[in-house]
Amino acid sequence: MTSAKWPARSDIYDRLGVPKVINAASWLTALGGSLMRPEVFRAMEEAGQHFVVMDQLYLAAGKVVARACGAEAGMVCAGASAGNMLMAASVLTGDDDAKIERLPDTAGMKDEILILKSQRNYYDKSFEQAGATLVDVGMPSDAEPYHLEAAITGKTAAVAYINAPFMKRPIALRQVVEIAHARGVPVIVDSSAEVPPIENLTLPMKDGADMVTYSGGKGINGPQNAGLLAGRKDLIAAAHKHYMNPDGSSRASIGRPAKVSKETIIGMVTALELFLETDHAAVWEGWRKQAKYIVGRLQGIPGLRVVTEEHENRQGPQAVIYFEPKWKGLAPGQIRQRLKDGNPPVYVGGGGYGDEINMVMVNVQPGEEKIIADRLAEILGTGKR
Ligand SMILES: *Cc1c(COP(=O)(O)O)cnc(C)c1O
Repeated sequence: MTSAKWPARSDIYDRLGVPKVINAASWLTALGGSLMRPEVFRAMEEAGQHFVVMDQLYLAAGKVVARACGAEAGMVCAGASAGNMLMAASVLTGDDDAKIERLPDTAGMKDEILILKSQRNYYDKSFEQAGATLVDVGMPSDAEPYHLEAAITGKTAAVAYINAPFMKRPIALRQVVEIAHARGVPVIVDSSAEVPPIENLTLPMKDGADMVTYSGGKGINGPQNAGLLAGRKDLIAAAHKHYMNPDGSSRASIGRPAKVSKETIIGMVTALELFLETDHAAVWEGWRKQAKYIVGRLQGIPGLRVVTEEHENRQGPQAVIYFEPKWKGLAPGQIRQRLKDGNPPVYVGGGGYGDEINMVMVNVQPGEEKIIADRLAEILGTGKR
């Protein structure tokens, strides 16, 4: 398949005229999420050679997901947003076929999902996609247990809880579960980007959550259009019905957009198994070295405080540039722009505490830390090499 327009040996992105970038901004979907390992591609290619009964594949993959998350049951879906939608649909309808067919019309159902106001985020729309109405609980940046207790009514279908960097957790998940369960209300958790660390894969279930979802294409390095959904057996069975009719007919319900291909399911399961076998301490240490390298190269510039940071608001060890009042150089926005305008374009994190420039190592490929440091040294005006 060669033509003048598509020279066989040039890079596929070059052929399309799309620049490849250095991603020091984390698992951003806008930059492609994460990179899959060769084993994952090989498994996907193998999966594409055969037909299978999708329901059997779905159930087998679900067992792997369940085990990984320490849950009764699991499944692969089309990402954490799809997972949010399926969790909401499942708590609204349970196993009731008539209700499942009715969504997003929620007539005759409890259809309110409570969410801490301080945990509202761009992705919570996906709970509403199922037909649920989100009801805010507590203050914009705080909440007390009694706020949640008072908010639960006869219309409450579930409490949604969000685990994410920079997301406030004014009430711990375990306590949210206690309060909700005491009133017969399930708790559904969006933990999209919470792994690694690997312990976060089982924490929500240990804390008593009823369902949890993770992105497949962030820290787990699976297909970008895949996600994990795990939880109680009856609720996963309901999610299954929303997503794919288990009787083998092609009846589709509201979960249809959460569909994943056989290749994607195999890719996700393969990535998950590799993730479970990974020496995460070694990977973490690699990120730490990359961050320290950049920080080392940018010391001694008047007005800048350049440090490594490792804590739960940062995804992995990061190199962070803080701008002090005496900084007289380019504004942070101008620096970001110069990084993007260079060749190759470099994308850095969005800050978090203010206008600091944070560099996330989770997607920085070996050696790219040197390019980042070179570019910053040039832009910030230091002779250090
Ligand atoms: C990224 C993200 C999502 C969306 O996940 P996808 O797998 O891309 O659908 C949902 N919630 C949170 C908190 C996220 O960070």
